[in-house]
Amino acid sequence: MSVLVYIEHADGQIKKTSLEAISFAKGLVDKTGEGDVVAVALGSIESAALAKAGSAGASKVMHDPNDKLSAGVIQAHASAVASAFKQTGAKTVVMAKSSLADAVAARLAIKINAGLVSNVVELPNTDGGYTVKRSIYTGKAFAETSLATENKILAIKKNAADLITDGADAQVEQFDAGVADSDFAAKITSTDRATGDVLLPEADIVVSGGRGLKGPENWGMIEDMAKTLGAATGCSKPVSDIGWRPHHEHVGQTGIKVAPSLYIAVGISGAIQHLAGVNSSKCIVVINKDPEAPFFKAADYGIVGDAFDVVPKLTEALKAE
Ligand code: FAD
Repeated sequence: MSVLVYIEHADGQIKKTSLEAISFAKGLVDKTGEGDVVAVALGSIESAALAKAGSAGASKVMHDPNDKLSAGVIQAHASAVASAFKQTGAKTVVMAKSSLADAVAARLAIKINAGLVSNVVELPNTDGGYTVKRSIYTGKAFAETSLATENKILAIKKNAADLITDGADAQVEQFDAGVADSDFAAKITSTDRATGDVLLPEADIVVSGGRGLKGPENWGMIEDMAKTLGAATGCSKPVSDIGWRPHHEHVGQTGIKVAPSLYIAVGISGAIQHLAGVNSSKCIVVINKDPEAPFFKAADYGIVGDAFDVVPKLTEALKAE
């Protein structure tokens, strides 16, 4: 039996978080010893880009290229995924948690009569039941949820699965999800793309700045370090509130939640609301002139020093690598 993975794409490529969801699903079929991983992609994207779903563990991608689906209208996506679910005969849908996926999952759960668990952090325990571990209280604790429904939806948290990269290309098949005009009742008239070369929610490395940087004119050194590392830039909430940086860079409980391999925090105190957005990062480096800054307690590596001294030197050293 197939496990269906709802994948998202941007700039003509499958999002990394969706590739992780595919690898999670592959882990699931390997664990139960049955079935394969089928991904469903919606809207305009080249078949060659979709075939790369195979590298992460999918054997097939069902693609409805209807351009109206490119805008990510929630109701339409829920209907399209429900259609793919019925066509594959799958019992489980996996997706990477995102604001779009959260909205789609809730509607999909109604359409396919499924139990839904979000923020899943590891493969379900299927010994004599179906128990799913999920992250709660912005990463401060875990809960175990038992699913009793036959159909299931798992929305996984970033870094919940190790990305598989050695699979062969997936077979890409076009399908018609049969989405009705009434599913497009909400109309997206324009979308603003975040600035910068690397999108913050997807970034593997993030360099973030806080109020310790004193003003927007000092962000050049953050951008220089980010460019050197191929990283996205982020900031603390007050920094975007004051208007030093755009709101889409605001990281934390009330902003973007990131889970990069490396998070570098410069001149950020480490308030609990900021940590809530970064505590799934694999490695945290803190640069702060105050040795008592709370962020050091959450750091894997810390540099006590003046950012205006440390950051340029560190960037020069990285450039020399
Ligand atoms: P500050 O607390 O002012 O810290 C600045 C740091 O820079 C200090 O540690 C200082 O030692 C250091 N520093 C100063 N000069 C230098 C220098 N030259 N070199 C190196 N270090 C230096 N915050 C978020 O970030 N994200 C959120 O999502 C968020 N949500 C919130 C939700 C609620 C309901 C509330 C009440 C608050 C929220 N906050 C959030 C705000 C949060 O509580 C903190 O106020 C905020 O994170 C502090 O930002 P900061 O660390 O940039 O500034």
